[in-house]
Amino acid sequence: MAERRILVTGATGFIAGHCVSELLQHGYAVRGTVRDPRTADVAHLRAIADQTGGSLEFVAARLDSDAGWAAAVAGCDGVLHLASPVPAGVPKNENELIRPAVDGTLRVLRAAADAGTVRRVVLTSSMDAIVNGHGHGQGHGDQVRTEADWSNVDRIAPYPKSKTLAERAAWEFAADRDLELVTINPGMVVGPLLRAQHATSMEAVRQLLARWLPGVPRLSFAVVDVRDVAAAHRLAMETPAAAGNRYICAASTLWLGEIAEVLAAEFGPRGYRVPTRTLPYWLTWIGARFDATIRLALTYYDVPMLVSADKAKRELGWSPRPAEAAIIAAADSLIRYGIVPRGKRDTTTTQPRIPDPR
Ligand code: NDP
Repeated sequence: MAERRILVTGATGFIAGHCVSELLQHGYAVRGTVRDPRTADVAHLRAIADQTGGSLEFVAARLDSDAGWAAAVAGCDGVLHLASPVPAGVPKNENELIRPAVDGTLRVLRAAADAGTVRRVVLTSSMDAIVNGHGHGQGHGDQVRTEADWSNVDRIAPYPKSKTLAERAAWEFAADRDLELVTINPGMVVGPLLRAQHATSMEAVRQLLARWLPGVPRLSFAVVDVRDVAAAHRLAMETPAAAGNRYICAASTLWLGEIAEVLAAEFGPRGYRVPTRTLPYWLTWIGARFDATIRLALTYYDVPMLVSADKAKRELGWSPRPAEAAIIAAADSLIRYGIVPRGKRDTTTTQPRIPDPR
């Protein structure tokens, strides 16, 4: 049987790296797009290809240019589109995120539709395209959100807006051109890094472990392990009945205080002083006067993130590991790669208390 080749866009990214690994381990040939193959840090991915004996190549393509996309998709059976700006803060101009997210998605889909070989595109959207702008001011409201929900773009911050508009544009394009599309809508993705890199969604774990926060604001996150998000992408590519569907990916919802408790229990004995005291609203409110990111967090203060990932479990056979295991794996790798300084009594990387079931 001929080798099946999958294009993964934004291969340098945190989640995309795990998608490349997942595909190589399942016998696919992988082509990754990077902004510039001469400077892109992809040694970790080449090492995985060497270990698995898989075929891996890189090509240049940017979300803000048509150049390179036709060549990138040429001969591919499928596309995982992950590249999109994932900022650590809130940009002054929302179009810095919206334009590359929307225009880039349409470039990738157009190239896929024109190629003639691409059977399906899996787009990495986000839970942010589902849960935002429903009541409670701008927060995510008090109902369990499912794939039937869409964020209200009139009432949301630039990043969720970029994800919502990009996903909407993708569904419209797919309908117009009769292209098979599936979207994966993950929550807060944490877990092991494959290289020393800044992953925006690991910031909460990093800040708690490095005791950057004086206390814990009452914020809620639907946590999921990056390895399980990568598995969901592969399953979305392989499951015939997935065509035309959105899939929420989350293991469970935890308050930031519960995430801190998991970290304190596991890493406290190793000398990490993880804050676990709840930060009162008024203190967060004062911080919000000086910092746009905290201002954004205020919108979600004390609002539980209620979502259901039952559809992915039922239809894709997806089985995520516990959120606690993902959090511990995230923290372990932040330490291993030197992104968080070692705790005073940390002489070894011990086995996590909550064993990883895989
Ligand atoms: P990363 O920042 O690690 O990866 C983003 C990737 O997009 C990088 O490869 C980056 O390239 C690339 N990229 C950004 N802008 C451009 C551009 N203008 N042209 C070409 N490439 C570009 O983020 P994640 O791995 O966390 O996110 C991957 C995807 O998953 C994104 O679509 C994100 O919205 C989505 N997602 C992430 C979640 C999370 O919790 N992490 C949750 C839900 C969805 P470079 O390395 O060169 O900057």
